[in-house]
Amino acid sequence: MKRREFLAGAVLAGVLPVIRQQAPSSAGAVDPSLLQDLVAANRILAEQGVLDAFGHVSVRHNRDPNRFLISRSLAPALVGEEDFIEYDLDSNAVNARGRAQYSERFIHGSIYKARKDVNAVVHSHSPSVIPFGVSSVPMRPVYHMAAFIGDGLPTFDIRKAAGITDMLVSNADKGRALAQALADKPAVLMRGHGVAVVGPALPYAVGRSIYLEVNARIQLQAIGLGGRITYIDPEEAKKVLEAGENRGYERAWELWKRKVMTK
Ligand SMILES: [Zn+2]
Repeated sequence: MKRREFLAGAVLAGVLPVIRQQAPSSAGAVDPSLLQDLVAANRILAEQGVLDAFGHVSVRHNRDPNRFLISRSLAPALVGEEDFIEYDLDSNAVNARGRAQYSERFIHGSIYKARKDVNAVVHSHSPSVIPFGVSSVPMRPVYHMAAFIGDGLPTFDIRKAAGITDMLVSNADKGRALAQALADKPAVLMRGHGVAVVGPALPYAVGRSIYLEVNARIQLQAIGLGGRITYIDPEEAKKVLEAGENRGYERAWELWKRKVMTK
């Protein structure tokens, strides 16, 4: 018997494990309202100018904390319910069925693995935020809507984790380094690239992404005035959050969702 035939026979007989990696199992049907909110989140972030053709938003599966959902590789404004792929926390697809996948899905899997409190993740190239990832001037909260920035946000420099790269968080090692830089914060700036924003639910991750972009714009304007700037004090920021962070973004979420889902 030739070696190849022998091996094939051994696999069939169950003596040798099949080398090809099996897709992880599905956690089952997702709550339909969560799926609808994930569609809304994609379109809201596109409409608000946080995402363009690139960037993505994901949500943890409501039935299994070890699974998350994110669109196939597609511009967020075009995403519909049929486009979502389920992943395990190593960012292996459960049901890709040959569809193209986001190369930076590892951002999401790695953060869900490291942060049990996080149920939604946004990765964007939010244009006004970029300067703060490359400058020594730190991002600070200029107004109460961005109080979640607190006493500042960490910056992830991919060079420290992986040397010279194409800047993309395109494998599990880079994802783990990013999650480490995020630590227990609501967002991590990514030098020369963008930002990853997290939240306990989609309205938080989306709302924080939107107000982070607005805060960056306003902070740049305030710096442009040339005088001394009085930022929100970290103690004031704490008080704002204790009072309920922007009322859980409920009012804004209702508005944003209606605008994009009735088009
Ligand atoms: Zn990116």
